[in-house]
Amino acid sequence: RDLYGIDDWGSGYFGISDKGTVEVYPFGDKQVSVELSKILDIAAEKKVKTPLIVRFPQILDTQLTKLQNAFRGAMEEFKYEGELRAVFPFKVNQRKEFIDDLVSSGKKHIYGLEVGTKPELFAALAYDIHPEALFVCNGFKDSHFIELAFDAKKMGKNVVLVIEGTDELKYIINYAKKVGYCVDIGLRAKLYAKGSGMWEKSGGIGSKFGLNSVEMMEALYLVEEAGLKDQLAMIHYHIGSQITEIKRVKAAMKEAARVYAKILKSGFNLRYLNIGGGIGVDYDGSKTSFYVSHNYTMQEFANDVIYIIQDVCKSEKCKAPHIVSESGRAVAAYHAVLLTDVREVEKTGGNLEEWKISPTDHRLLADMMNSVAYMNGKNFVEYYHDALQYRDELFTLFNLGYLEIEERAKAEVIYYALCNKALSFYRNSGMQLEEFDELEKNQFGKYMANFSMFQSIPDTLGIDQLFPVMPITRLDEKTQHHGVIMDLTCDSDGCLDKFVDKRDVKHSLALHIPKSNEPYYIGFFLVGAYQEALGNNHNLFGAVNELIVRINEEGQIMPVEEVKGEDVGEILRIMNYRDEEVVKGYELQLKRNVAAGVIPQQECDRILRKVKGFFSEYPYLERKSSLEIID
Ligand code: PLP
Repeated sequence: RDLYGIDDWGSGYFGISDKGTVEVYPFGDKQVSVELSKILDIAAEKKVKTPLIVRFPQILDTQLTKLQNAFRGAMEEFKYEGELRAVFPFKVNQRKEFIDDLVSSGKKHIYGLEVGTKPELFAALAYDIHPEALFVCNGFKDSHFIELAFDAKKMGKNVVLVIEGTDELKYIINYAKKVGYCVDIGLRAKLYAKGSGMWEKSGGIGSKFGLNSVEMMEALYLVEEAGLKDQLAMIHYHIGSQITEIKRVKAAMKEAARVYAKILKSGFNLRYLNIGGGIGVDYDGSKTSFYVSHNYTMQEFANDVIYIIQDVCKSEKCKAPHIVSESGRAVAAYHAVLLTDVREVEKTGGNLEEWKISPTDHRLLADMMNSVAYMNGKNFVEYYHDALQYRDELFTLFNLGYLEIEERAKAEVIYYALCNKALSFYRNSGMQLEEFDELEKNQFGKYMANFSMFQSIPDTLGIDQLFPVMPITRLDEKTQHHGVIMDLTCDSDGCLDKFVDKRDVKHSLALHIPKSNEPYYIGFFLVGAYQEALGNNHNLFGAVNELIVRINEEGQIMPVEEVKGEDVGEILRIMNYRDEEVVKGYELQLKRNVAAGVIPQQECDRILRKVKGFFSEYPYLERKSSLEIID
């Protein structure tokens, strides 16, 4: 039943129901569940089309509580004196609906926000978060950024400007002199320690961000000289996202805690040690240091962080800091699922039984047919090589005009039958042969899915990220096919042919053959972090529809909120098209045809009405049934 490893990567939020459908457990236990197919029924009632993102704010809440509990549990265990002041990095998911829910869940935890750019700061400051919660400002800053942060302090926000370079610091000092007050300042340290995994280069002495030791000394001197020693509140570091190995976390923590303690002891009023983000998400469920997994639990991460800081501070005889975690991926990833309908478009080969060799067919076809009949576990490699040769010879004959189109089709069908048979012998042989591994890949059915990888899972293209993908119904039926998933973009990159497979990558997904009378839906899971923020409008596919689903304690779905995806008009406007100009373009051409007598006026009016309606069209495919011709 669980071909897809859902119990491993689902992290308690996803599983399979007795009916063979994917269900969601928003509180992380099976007491309360909802089937994804039920949500699609609601979508259909509300006329919300696929592709669509389903958000579960209660998963977000549960996951945030897990993070808080992990650190608080560790603090209690080690009798740690500081407190937790975690923040959410805005860049992980800036969608308003998401941040609204995050902020509301964050209120019970004194949870703050982290921003890295002016627009992020601008949007974030509008949220009335807990007054003690932090607003951590990272990233490169200009005067407007800095001045907005100073204004935020006047609004009562607990702002920390984390310095990326001394120019920023000089501006802060001068501005503080001018206005007569100063926000808290943080210094981002460039650690020698590095993370591990895809974002390893975010850490280490060659990293883009942070101050090296010399710059750090200069910054400390400037702060002291300006009389702002009390304002230096935070040391920050971040060794990269999705850290795969716990030993890297520990090494960085030891170094950063030492930096913190040394600066504190030299008379600066430090209060916060900001350990950045980086807690991994186990996308493949392997719990290993494979790049889409991690070899530690959240609790182990928190225990190590707290233990090491405590230990270093004890040895340095200084007060332990409040801990700031900026982990975002681990908080956000689970809460969103992308659902869409899939149509099988290309099956390689065909049914051999339906094709008979006739006496007039070229003799090579009969030879190929014999190979199918006589292939066995001993000779399959040799017979497969023969098949390759037959295929090449037959195509040459076709090109020279010696073969009819029907013979060419038969040759293809027999060739694929040969390949399939050879592959089934290969799979049972225990052999490892490169050409058969390649063949395996080429045999996969192509399933066309109604979505854009560029818009909805851009990290699969940018950084080879793997997300769990699986059908959300029919899980009690045997799958009939191995397939790859093609998106709607006119781009050969838009083909998903890498899937999670514990500690490995598999090149196809076990799928069913879609039935003609019912849509076949698949889900992309753990897509709540970074994907929406990074998605782009390639081929003019815009943000997808959203449903926000909450469940009460009896397991009933509460009224579902919907957020409309971008329509054709909105996407065109982003690209500078003006509605009036587009309509005018159509009008001019249609009127010319009316004037020339090519079409009557009513046709011109009908088309123009349609054109005006098209701006509000969803750019993705209509249901498959829309292609059925109605008499
Ligand atoms: N803090 C900073 C400075 C970052 O650059 C990032 C992202 O890489 C994060 C926090 C969030 O990291 P993650 O989402 O892996 O927890």
